[in-house]
Amino acid sequence: MNSRQIVIVEDETSIREAIAETLRAAGYEPLQAADGVAGLTAARRPGVRLVLLDLMLPKMDGMAVLRQLRQTHSTLPVIILTARGAEDDRVQGLQAGADDYVVKPFSARELMARVEAVLRRSAERPADVTDIRVGKATVDLERREVRRGNEERQTLSETECTILLHLAAYPGRAVSRDELLTRVWGLSGGGIETRTIDMHVARLRAKLAAINQNEDESYIMTVRGKGYMLGPDVSVRAADAPVPQKGAKK
Ligand code: CA
Repeated sequence: MNSRQIVIVEDETSIREAIAETLRAAGYEPLQAADGVAGLTAARRPGVRLVLLDLMLPKMDGMAVLRQLRQTHSTLPVIILTARGAEDDRVQGLQAGADDYVVKPFSARELMARVEAVLRRSAERPADVTDIRVGKATVDLERREVRRGNEERQTLSETECTILLHLAAYPGRAVSRDELLTRVWGLSGGGIETRTIDMHVARLRAKLAAINQNEDESYIMTVRGKGYMLGPDVSVRAADAPVPQKGAKK
């Protein structure tokens, strides 16, 4: 995708314009929205790459915007802008499907680091894993969904898909939380807590169990003191030769 459009949903004009300026300087095309309703509409425009979402907003609060957005755009990257100390907001936001959060007040540099990291991991695809089967379900990596038969499907978020791919890239060994943080988040752990990854794994696990219509947690096993690994009912096939580079055009 070539679009550089990033939606900013923020009711404080000075903050919104400062973010827009930062994004513009970095070569992005900011779209500004001053309330939740306008923000949801803007976020749903075709070609939007990422959404920066404040939580306290007029007309519709940020959490409601996120939930509604996720019903139609399950993988569009969303970064929440939260007030310092509002830890519940961060947890709730991540549970509602946000990809990351930035705590106000943030520097332009910090914001851009988060934006680039989220965009990078949404673009990265380990090319060697071609096929993942989880119990009776098949993972469609292109469409980021897990399917069972013709009817049943669960959509995976960008982050969940990346975690699954990373675990699949190392079948038969436990992958530590630190490694997942580094590989999946593209950060050296700074600012992101390990329970963030636990939350995403829990959601992924729940989806894999749901599609198989059981409560089996062993599709992704917790290895105490080590991290996570795929269970025996997950099979992974990798390509013999590297898959041709896709989406390399800029
Ligand atoms: Ca606000």
